[in-house]
Amino acid sequence: SFRPADRIADLGVSEILAITARASALKREGRPVIILGAGEPDFDTPDHIKEAAVAAIREGRTKYTVLDGSPEMKRAIRDKFRRENGLEFKADEVTAAAGAKQILYNAMMASLNEGDEVIIPTPCWTSYFDIVRIAGGVPVGVPCDEGTGFRLTPEALEAAITPRTRWLLLNSPSNPTGSAYGENDYRPLIGVLHRNPHVWLMVDDIYEHILYDGFRYVTPAALDAGLRERCLTVNGVSKAYAMTGWRLGYAGGPAPLIAAMAVVQSQSTSCPSSVTQAAAIAALDGPQDFLAGRTASFAARRDLVVDGLNAIQGITCRKPEGAFYAFASCEGLIGCVTLQGMRLDSDRDLCAWLLEAADVAVVPGACFGLPGYFRVSYATSDDELGEALACIARACATLM
Ligand code: PLP
Repeated sequence: SFRPADRIADLGVSEILAITARASALKREGRPVIILGAGEPDFDTPDHIKEAAVAAIREGRTKYTVLDGSPEMKRAIRDKFRRENGLEFKADEVTAAAGAKQILYNAMMASLNEGDEVIIPTPCWTSYFDIVRIAGGVPVGVPCDEGTGFRLTPEALEAAITPRTRWLLLNSPSNPTGSAYGENDYRPLIGVLHRNPHVWLMVDDIYEHILYDGFRYVTPAALDAGLRERCLTVNGVSKAYAMTGWRLGYAGGPAPLIAAMAVVQSQSTSCPSSVTQAAAIAALDGPQDFLAGRTASFAARRDLVVDGLNAIQGITCRKPEGAFYAFASCEGLIGCVTLQGMRLDSDRDLCAWLLEAADVAVVPGACFGLPGYFRVSYATSDDELGEALACIARACATLM
């Protein structure tokens, strides 16, 4: 019988996908399930981006490209970094791959030796730990609580660093908490990195464009020139331009790292899809004004969801600065008993019960490394969100 490689023997496919699959199955059976689990905008990819892809197909731009991005793609990425982040990169300092996820994967595969450690503040996106593990590294989770807005403190960073530490991996705004790091949050962390020159910094900026209340976005490489030679700035078109299915992520960093990442990519996907690159160039080069309208819709939904959750007894929710997730504490409901006499012993129990009793799918905080919480994705219509909140409130009111 089949025996998986040791490298993946203990890993499963994402629990979030499993929850979404269960919710979708119930929906197919006719249950009015509302799924607040997805990590993708409900908006459509804008027409000018689709048209650029259609034109590429018609003009025969359907062949292999340079392996880590066509010259035009790299030009668009460099322009984006210069225009939006004040970062100057040369052509051999940027790379494109099939999603920010592949960028992270390439970077870990290209840099980690067996046992090398990667510091990851938790709660965090579920994929970080397993990408590091597949690459032979050791993920070192550093718990961050609500008291610091789920942000890593310099003290906690300093305490987690060992001689084996290779990377610190940060994500702002964050999945699952929606927390963002401002300049004042980054500066002390950069100070710790200066005292520990063997530690490199990887930042996942994929939610850059989804920020509220005028929060001032910064990326660390732009704050500190000294950090440039050991910082990889990761981004992508999935979330900003509603292009999750197209698969295009990119990054800027030191040329030797970028070259090593190209070696990994050359033996996996060869290059990102040529048609997708045409679409991504249009996204990065094209009009950006529609983003503000989309962010305003997300902001209104954030308020609806955060206020709705806080109105439910036993649930409290911090107001996030960005992304499209609310991360709520359900500590006050743990230990409650349902009408059927079942005790809810954990966030996993609560989420499983909410799917059955309220027809709403949300993701337990344990999936992201912080039990006692759950994540609501509000990249869904106002009507569905309002309905989902009412269902959760009604169900929770029956708990004893
Ligand atoms: N990084 C974070 C924090 C995410 O939440 C996601 C998607 O959910 C990704 C990266 C992956 O993005 P991409 O679609 O570019 O692979």
